[in-house]
Amino acid sequence: MNKELLKENLREIPDFPIPGILFYDVTTLFKNAECLRALIDELYELYKDKGITKVVGIESRGFILGAAVAARLGAGFIMARKPGKLPAEVIEETYAKEYGTDTIQIHKDAICEDDVVLLHDDLLATGGTMAATHRLVQSCGVKKAYVNFVIELKDLEGRKAFPENVDITTLLQL
Ligand code: AMP
Repeated sequence: MNKELLKENLREIPDFPIPGILFYDVTTLFKNAECLRALIDELYELYKDKGITKVVGIESRGFILGAAVAARLGAGFIMARKPGKLPAEVIEETYAKEYGTDTIQIHKDAICEDDVVLLHDDLLATGGTMAATHRLVQSCGVKKAYVNFVIELKDLEGRKAFPENVDITTLLQL
């Protein structure tokens, strides 16, 4: 993966959405055609031999590459969403945030025991959102659940939110 290409095209926005947060804006990664293609190619290369049957993208920035790589892998695509967004019967997992709790849902019929799943989101910060989604997918009895992020904020040690045996890849470590 050409990390310089990623770094050049990733926009940093200080104090968004609140003072003190440095926000990594992936819209500029997706806007650049070469960069978008390189990201999809890299994800395809990483997971093409894993027998992935479903890709789960986390709302909302995980939808973009998640759906694109699902199509390349010949897998289905599943949306993991915040409460109140999915229309059919859901299963959910609630997780602790710095202040209060949050909940992530998928449709109850989205994933089955035969699936090999790739979970994808844009950025690993504390890992809370993805770890909860991983638990939710595991509760469906899947054969295996891989985890991927485009960006990993290393200082936040988000990998610690997952059990040790979880297979996690990230494309750019900051
Ligand atoms: P976390 O559960 O802490 O790993 O963060 C979950 C979500 O928050 C991810 O889906 C990211 O999209 C978003 N996020 C957290 N911190 C940042 C950041 N500094 N820049 C951009 N997105 C972020």
